[in-house]
Amino acid sequence: MSAENKAVDLQAGGNKEPIPQGPVLVVGGAGYIGSHTVRQLDQAGVEVVVLDDLSTGHRESIADLDKRGAFEEVSLADRTAVDDVFARRKPVGVIHFAAKCYVGESVENPSKYYRENVTYTWNLLEAMRTAHCRDIVFSSSCATYGNPVEIPMTDNHPQDPISPYGRTKLHMEHMMDDYARAYDIRFAALRYFNAAGAALAGGLGEDHHPETHLIPLILQVAQGKREEILIFGDDYDTPDGTCIRDYIHVEDLGDAHLRALSFLQSGSERIACNLGTGHGYSVQEVIQAARDVTQHAIPARIVGRRAGDPPRLVSGGTIATEVLGWTARHSQLRDILRDAWAFHSKFPAGYASSTDKS
Ligand code: UDP
Repeated sequence: MSAENKAVDLQAGGNKEPIPQGPVLVVGGAGYIGSHTVRQLDQAGVEVVVLDDLSTGHRESIADLDKRGAFEEVSLADRTAVDDVFARRKPVGVIHFAAKCYVGESVENPSKYYRENVTYTWNLLEAMRTAHCRDIVFSSSCATYGNPVEIPMTDNHPQDPISPYGRTKLHMEHMMDDYARAYDIRFAALRYFNAAGAALAGGLGEDHHPETHLIPLILQVAQGKREEILIFGDDYDTPDGTCIRDYIHVEDLGDAHLRALSFLQSGSERIACNLGTGHGYSVQEVIQAARDVTQHAIPARIVGRRAGDPPRLVSGGTIATEVLGWTARHSQLRDILRDAWAFHSKFPAGYASSTDKS
């Protein structure tokens, strides 16, 4: 990382760092992590505009902004429309969440991933250049690392992705890096481990179609929507034989985005870092914790391994803490499950069961 390691003191709930002066464009702000970040920005007094094509996002998750006229239903494919949003809204910075994110789908249909993740990001960066908007915080992924060569995985772990999804995320990082070197662009690449949980204050949560992630699927079993959770392999080289992941609360992710944006706005040029807790839980441990939290039996059945699953993915990153002053404050596994369960219980059919349809 070549950025000046200027510490940002942004204690959540009492942000002391100057917040961005002017609108922040949150691209993909109606999605899972985007909508949580939008709410946090809004609550911190940042002016937010959401750009989302609603291909996977939910209008209900940004209902307040929509009512205030701060939502642009626009696709990044439409360069003219994106330029128009920049011209009208004059954002001082961008947080970019919009991407396709299914590893399996990316193997079957890489064209979609290169088009939507890579070329649409190129459109966004070009629109930023045209509008002289400099700062972009980007949702990257630990999938850019590929199979771990060390555990825990540091911020400087070699990046050798094993799926088209991971490769497109790395291309996006590289594009931003090249633009930052050549043009007046500053960027933060935040490499998430396993995003999970739901808003502490309720009303927002994870609602993917199809759902493939472990925690929401486990909670669907607790809800009675599925009969059992399938455990993809119990013959890994881990203590109980099931895969270990580093689950990070979506509210902690949102906090990191605000810090990263403030870091760039205060003049720093680039940062790339992990967002994880440094602690991993096995699939079996997650299921057991979900049984405790939900008080439901949650039947589980062991099946074969899922292709491409490394046995362990655990963050050993320190840059987010050292440079951004960020720590994961809500990411104890039981807290993640409690908050996700609250969302699932309130909205059993996801946002489709939300009462606020306006
Ligand atoms: N997993 C599982 N059963 C499921 C879904 C996931 O055993 O129905 C496992 C998966 O193999 C991985 C872990 O749970 O080891 C986390 O998977 P998820 O898809 O949530 O996130 P990933 O780590 O793939 O990003």
